[in-house]
Amino acid sequence: MALAAGGLLTVPTLKGFILTDKLGSGTYATVYKGFRKVAHREVVAVKCVLKKSLSKSSTENLLTEIEILKKVKHDHIVNLIDFQWDGHYIYLIMDYCSGGDLSKFLATKRALPERVVRRFLQQLASALQFLHYQNISHMDLKPQNLLLSNSYDPVLKVADFGFAQYVEIEINSESLRGSPLYMAPEIIINATYDAKVDLWSVGVILFECLFGKAPFASKTFSELADKIKSNEPIKIPSSIRISDQCHDLMFRLLQRDPKQRISFEEFFDHKFVDLEHMPSPQCIERAKKIVTEAAQKDIEGDYKSAASLYCQALEYFLPAIHYEKNRTKKEALRSKVREYMQRAEELKQSFKPSAAHPPSTPEAPSTTFILDGLANGYPELKAALHTTCQAETFDEQERYEEAFSKYEEALGQLLPILQSEPKSHRRELLQSEVLRFMSRAEEIKNYLEMNRLPSRQDSLNQSVMVTNDSENATWCVIQ
Ligand code: ADP
Ligand code: MG
Repeated sequence: MALAAGGLLTVPTLKGFILTDKLGSGTYATVYKGFRKVAHREVVAVKCVLKKSLSKSSTENLLTEIEILKKVKHDHIVNLIDFQWDGHYIYLIMDYCSGGDLSKFLATKRALPERVVRRFLQQLASALQFLHYQNISHMDLKPQNLLLSNSYDPVLKVADFGFAQYVEIEINSESLRGSPLYMAPEIIINATYDAKVDLWSVGVILFECLFGKAPFASKTFSELADKIKSNEPIKIPSSIRISDQCHDLMFRLLQRDPKQRISFEEFFDHKFVDLEHMPSPQCIERAKKIVTEAAQKDIEGDYKSAASLYCQALEYFLPAIHYEKNRTKKEALRSKVREYMQRAEELKQSFKPSAAHPPSTPEAPSTTFILDGLANGYPELKAALHTTCQAETFDEQERYEEAFSKYEEALGQLLPILQSEPKSHRRELLQSEVLRFMSRAEEIKNYLEMNRLPSRQDSLNQSVMVTNDSENATWCVIQ
C-alpha cells in the first residue's frame, strides 16, 4: 500500500496495470482509470477497496458486488473483467465508461428532453428486468451509480452493486442502505422493505432527469426528513411539458406506499418503458418477419391487414435503424423503410370513403326527406332522422370521427323503430335507409381504423431523430 507523507493515500499499484486518473470515490472505495501493461493497452476502470477500511458489513457488500458482477453479463450492466487482491487492497477491474456517471452528465445538461430520458430509462429497465428474474435487487440506484459508456453515443450501464441483495434475504433497517434523496420512504419510516425500493429510486431518477432536481431536493437535512416523512403525494411539476405516458409512469413509481406503487411486471410492460421496442439486435429480425407478412397480405389483396402489418413492422424498424452502427447498412435500411412507409400510406389513403351522399333537394328529394314527410306524429322517428341529417352533414364535410359517432347514434335510434314498424311503404324506405347508413358507417370505421395507425409523418420525425442521433451522436442528447 502507498501512504504518502501526512497519511494521504496515493494511487494504489496493481500488477499488470498502470492506474492513472481518479474517476470517483464512494462509500468504501476509490475508482481509478487504468491501462493494461500490454501492447494494446486496454483501458479499464479499477475499483480499489482498502481492506483495512472494511467493516464486516462492507466486506459483505463487496463480496456481494463481486458475486453479482461475475454472474451477470448484460449490455446495460457494467462488465466486471476480473478481480484481484493483495495485502492492502481488493481490486475490481471493470470496463471503463468514458461518459462518466449520470450525475455528472445531468450536472452539465440540467434537464434532459423526454425522448433522451426514455432511451436511458429503457436501458435501465432492461437491466432491472434481467436482475429481477434472477432475484437480485440493487438497493442503491441513483445517478452516481449509473454509468455512461461514452459521451458521443452514451449507453447506460448500472454499476455499484455494493448494496445489492438477493431479495429473499430479509432486510431490516439496522443497515440503512442507499442515499436519502433516492431512498424509498419506507426504508426510513418502516422497519422492513423489499425489492420495490428500486422502483421508487427509478421514479426519482426519472424525475431528476426531466426536471433537473430530485423530488425531495432540500436545503437542509431536516427539510429533507420532513419531505420524506410527509404523506403528501409527490407533486409533478407542470413547468416542463411531458407526455401523459411519462407522467403516468412517474406518478405510479413515486407512490409512497409500496403496495400502491407500480409492480415490476407492470413497470416492464408500461407503455412509456416499452421494452418490446427498445433498440436491440432482435428488432431487425422481428421487423423483417412482420414486413414479410405485410407484403403477403398486400399480394393477396387484404389491404387492411397489410397496412396494419406495415405499421407494426415500422415500430421495430425504427429502433433497428437506431441499433445499426454501420453507416452503409443503416442508410440501406432507412431507404427500405421509407418504401414501406410509402406503401402503408398509399394503402391507408385507399380506404378514404367515397364522396358522401348528395344532400336532398326539392327536385331530387332524398329517401330521408321522403321519410321525414311520413314521420309526422312520430316524434322518435323525427328525432332519429334529425340525427341522420347531422351524421350526413359531418360526412359531407369529411369530419369522419363526428360523422361515425352520429351514424352510430342514429342507428341506435332507428333499429328499434324498424323492428316495431308494420309492413308498409314507410317500413321499406326505413329498411333501405338503415342498410345504407350501416354500410356508410362501416366504410368510415375502416378508414378511421386505418388513420389510427401511426402516421407517416410521425414515423418520419422519429426516423429523423434516430438518424441524427447516430450520425452526430450527441445530437439527441443536446437537442
Ligand atoms: P462506491 O461503491 O464507492 O460508490 P462506485 O462503483 O459507485 O463506488 O464508483 C464511484 C464512482 O466512480 C462512480 O460514481 C463513477 O463516477 C466512477 N466509476 C465507477 N466505475 C466506473 C467505470 N467503470 N467507468 C468510469 N467511471 C466509473
Ligand atoms: Mg456508488
